[in-house]
Amino acid sequence: MNGRAVRLDGDLDRLVSFTIPGRNVRGRTLRLGPVLGRILAAHAYPPAIQRLLAEALVLTALMGGLLKPEASQLTLQAHAEGGVVDLMVCDYRNGELRGYVRHDADRLAALPGDPRLPDLFGSGHLAITFELSTADQRYQGVVPLEGESLSAAVEAYFARSEQVPTLIRIAIAAEGKACIAGGLLVQHLAEGEQGRERLHVRMDHPEWEHVSILAQSVQPHELVEPELSQEKLVWRLFHEEPEVRVQAAVPLSRGCRCSTVHFEEVLARFPKEDRRDMRDENGIILVDCAFCSREFAIQD
Ligand SMILES: [Zn+2]
Repeated sequence: MNGRAVRLDGDLDRLVSFTIPGRNVRGRTLRLGPVLGRILAAHAYPPAIQRLLAEALVLTALMGGLLKPEASQLTLQAHAEGGVVDLMVCDYRNGELRGYVRHDADRLAALPGDPRLPDLFGSGHLAITFELSTADQRYQGVVPLEGESLSAAVEAYFARSEQVPTLIRIAIAAEGKACIAGGLLVQHLAEGEQGRERLHVRMDHPEWEHVSILAQSVQPHELVEPELSQEKLVWRLFHEEPEVRVQAAVPLSRGCRCSTVHFEEVLARFPKEDRRDMRDENGIILVDCAFCSREFAIQD
């Protein structure tokens, strides 16, 4: 949070990819503005839950932006017990983002205004699922929900499960209903599986050390300042490098796959007896989209 006025114009709702070839580093930056507002508007969440979902959406899009090809999907799910939140789901596909948080509003109200991660989640885990559209491949990594923030848990996931040193910075600026969330991810990639020492053997690799120090110099306000274009931000951080390649930005949007047709197709896969149990006396099955807080009446 910062004290500045939040202005929703400038470089918002875009994801920028870059590489620093001389250091075997790839990076993503993004800033959410009106798209975040549209996702939050489907729910009436208290400020602490809004901030949590904003951070989770930035993380989801940063990781989703690593996937190729575009139709692949990344899903971030937090399952927890003993805290305020028991379930949080966000996903990203082809620039489309959506998310929701299931929580206990009464328990949240009893906590201080800026609750810490353990207060929100109690004990739980974060599941990160990559679904690659071309190969029909799906893999999932799971890390405990511990540390200072969701971002720290995701950094730990990359370090532990993927052996990829990763640095993530996220900032959120909110004022009334206006909210901007921005993030930066940089990571060090091994030069292939063979041919050289695996990077995880040396997390202190000098080329990564250098880039991570530059990336850590990013200021929270730079991540949420729409007047500063993200291409300029990348330049500001890494201009001493001999080469930084910046790719064309991906526009971000709010997207959900729910529709009457979609739920009709889903229900058609259920056995007849199960559907009979679900429908009311008029033959209607009510289906709920948690992402949109919307109910669909499907005629069975
Ligand atoms: Zn929906």
